[in-house]
This record gives sequence, C-alpha cells and structure tokens, in this order.
Amino acid sequence: MKHAPQALYIHVPFCAAKCAYCAFYSLPAPAAAQRRQYLNRIAAEFADTAPRTGPLKTVFIGGGTPSFLSDNELRELLQAVRSSFTFAPDAEFTIECNPDSLNPDKIAVLVATGVNRVSLGIQSFSPRFRACIGRQGGLAGLERHIALLRDHGIANLGADLIYAIPGQTLADWEADLRQTLALGVQHLSTYALTVEENTRLTGDAVRPVDEQLAVDMWDRAAQVAESAGLRRYEVSNLAVPGAECRHNLDIWYGAAYLGCGPAASSYDGMTRWTHRSSLDEWLRHVSPETDVLTPQARAAEVLTFGLRTVAGWPRKLFRERTGFDLVELRGEAIASLVRDGLLELTPDVLRPTRQGLLFADTVAEQLL
Ligand code: SF4
Repeated sequence: MKHAPQALYIHVPFCAAKCAYCAFYSLPAPAAAQRRQYLNRIAAEFADTAPRTGPLKTVFIGGGTPSFLSDNELRELLQAVRSSFTFAPDAEFTIECNPDSLNPDKIAVLVATGVNRVSLGIQSFSPRFRACIGRQGGLAGLERHIALLRDHGIANLGADLIYAIPGQTLADWEADLRQTLALGVQHLSTYALTVEENTRLTGDAVRPVDEQLAVDMWDRAAQVAESAGLRRYEVSNLAVPGAECRHNLDIWYGAAYLGCGPAASSYDGMTRWTHRSSLDEWLRHVSPETDVLTPQARAAEVLTFGLRTVAGWPRKLFRERTGFDLVELRGEAIASLVRDGLLELTPDVLRPTRQGLLFADTVAEQLL
C-alpha cells in the first residue's frame, strides 16, 4: 500500500575537500554556479514532491556537508524546506554540520528556520588519526559553536566518531569518546573504519585493526557512553534515552520516506527510487533508479533493519507495519539464528543478542 511520506531526507552534495575514506556522493570545492544550480533545482523538487507528503514528522539534511553552504545559501535552502512542506507540531529537524564550516551567522540561520537537532562530524580529535584516514578540515571553534547552539535553545546535539583506525589503541579510542562526551552531546554515532571501493583509502596500505580489538572498541563505546547517560539503541548509535534519532528509527521500522537531491532515495510503501549519484544527471532530471519490491521482499528488508536496533521487532508492530507475521515470513532462518545465539525470540518480540548486533550483516544475509 502506498503511504504519504512523513520523513524527508535532503542530500547536500558538497564538501570543502574529499576525505580519503568517504564513499558518500559529494563534490569537493564546488563552484558557486554549481551551488546556485543545486539550490534552484532542489526548490523545484520540493515544490513537485511536497503535495505527495503528509505533515513532516522528521527532516534530515545530510550530505556531503550541509554547513559548507554559505550563510545565504543555507538560509535559502532551509526557507525553501519550510515554505514548501507542512510540519507536524513536534517535528524533528536535523542538520549535519562540520565544526569548521559553522559560524555564528549560520547558527542564527538554523535557529531562525526551526532546526532543532545538529549532528557534528568530529570523527577523531587526534591529528594523527585524522591524518591516517585522510579526514579533511579541522575542529576549530567546536566548543564555541556548541555553546552558541545551546544558548539559542538547540540542545539536541550529536557527534559522529570513527574507530578501528590503523594504529589506534583502546586507550586512544577511549580518549576520543571521553573528549566527545565531555561536550555534553546527547547522541553518539560510532562507525568502524571500512575501506570502501572507489575511495582514496583503497589501494593504500591501510591495515585493518585486529578483529577482536574492533569488538573491544565497540564494547568500550557503550561502557564509556553509559557513564555519561547514553545507551546503545542501534548497532552504531547511542543516545540519552529520549534523544534517539527519530528520523532513522522511523525508517528502520518501515516508514515511507522522501529523498531530495542527488543520490537520495525515496520509498512510498511499494516502490523505492534513488536519484543518480551525479549532480549533473540530477540537474538534467535523468530518471532515478527504481526498484519495485514485492510485499514479502520489503517485509524481509524491514525485518533486518529493525533487527539492527537493540529493542528489535515487537511482533505485533511488525504485523501492523508489514501485514506479515515475522515467524510465518522467515521462520526457518529465525530458528537457525536463534540456535546460533544471534537472535532471541519471545512470544512478543524478536530481538538481536549482543552477538547478533555485532554480526548484524550476517543476520541480514540469512533473513533476506
Ligand atoms: S566531510 Fe563527510 S561527506 Fe564530505 S568528504 Fe568527508 S566524510 Fe565525505
């Protein structure tokens, strides 16, 4: 059944420079003319798609580096979102920012346009490990920006960190965690470094850290975060209870969503379509890649997303969202994963064990 999306993702495909590990679609140092074309086209895309959405419960502006846009460009983008869509009264409105591209004027724009959640790309405080992964930019002004955001009432702040960097020890990782949590963030996303195809890390002599060390780092993140009041709620995400990212949670639990901008995906309950990962093709309206899913295939996919969360799937909720009983849908695979200690099944809920979270990709492979 088709649903009017109430979750909006906007991809801003620009960055100051390209990080060596990055596999996201983004253009380094774009010309002003490219940014102008992007802003014109995305406003038109908002106008085309807004009539097909419900009041937005969540908006997530990611990229790329949305804060790379100038003050005026950022204002234009955010005002276009505000004027094109209707918002639910308590909508979550998130933007990703890199600390060194923020400034007081941009923060004033965020405040004026109703942004209420900011996710900061920190990755690591260590110059050595930032250099190792080829992270562009720096962390200049981080504390000042956080104080200013808070002064203006944006207290829902998150940070992204990367671990399992070659040469990084458990103590190095713990130092990054503690320094980040000392900022008082309510949300923490932690990603193990992966060497993706088509990035500058490919082909370099980047030796992955020992697998057991990566697991120890994953565990240490939860231990250190817990001491600051954050709990793991998904494989890579930890939050103060109540500060979980609602946008991602809704999508993991099967909600329809609309994606605007190059490389952005949309899903309306039946069909998924993804804009080309090319600014030029998106500007020329090249048709998106489309994937029509059978209800069973979509239900299995959503099953795997929900099993990346600590809470897993309440069986009743799964039935309401997908029309299937999860045991009738994938009973054999679930029984095998329960036997292997990766999932736990009760009459009411199917949830991952600690091991199941660690091997979420294996769980997904067996359920799809
Ligand atoms: S800032 Fe983020 S999106 Fe941009 S290149 Fe670096 S990792 Fe990729």
